[in-house]
Amino acid sequence: MIVAANFKTNMTRKRTAAYLKELERRLAESGMEQQVMVFPPSTALDSFEGKVLVGAQNAYAAQNGAFTGEIGLDQLDEFGIDTILIGHSERRHVLGESQEEIAKKYAFYKEQGFNIVYCIGEPLEIREEGNDALMDYLDAQLVGIDLSYEKLVIAYEPVWAIGTGLTPSNVDIELLHTALRHKIERPLLYGGSVKVNNALEIMALANVDGVLVGGASLDVNGFFSMVEDAQKCDS
Ligand code: PEP
Repeated sequence: MIVAANFKTNMTRKRTAAYLKELERRLAESGMEQQVMVFPPSTALDSFEGKVLVGAQNAYAAQNGAFTGEIGLDQLDEFGIDTILIGHSERRHVLGESQEEIAKKYAFYKEQGFNIVYCIGEPLEIREEGNDALMDYLDAQLVGIDLSYEKLVIAYEPVWAIGTGLTPSNVDIELLHTALRHKIERPLLYGGSVKVNNALEIMALANVDGVLVGGASLDVNGFFSMVEDAQKCDS
């Protein structure tokens, strides 16, 4: 199982360091072997040691250059960061990233050998149009993405479930993940209002290989309990 935390624009450099120290302590004490990833804001990136894969929430598809406000490969390399989140719905819908730009980032960081968590997910109006519309929408978010890349992890995150407290039913999550499994052999995470009280049942579903957690990851106690849930699902 993979349990991943997306801090978004939350936490500071100091709080992130304290969080990771505590998380590493608990992981070491428990001896659990789950894959844990944390995506802090870019100002909190550093050379962290331990089991947790610390990654960037975003970066530009360039080594360096005239891209004001962005970070590139040089800035990630400085801290040994080799993991990135690409295609998150907030970048697609709030910040207006196009599929073309997203695919460019994917190709660039794939070429650099990064672990890539690649997010897809539909808005509510698409889901309401039915299954064909939903699958077509997700397929369009996979255009230009090499699904055979061995360091790819897919996160399915319905836009209407992110930060809202709403989730698809367990049956719907399982159906969707099973449909994705037919095209994608890489790990499939579910994301969107995963909390301490639903993480276990979601991770127990067929073809769910872990979770990507936003709001509920900000509390290290809650996040660690989701790692423990992952361990239960694996044993
Ligand atoms: C996310 O943004 O990746 C996410 C899943 O958010 P939340 O858990 O807060 O819905």
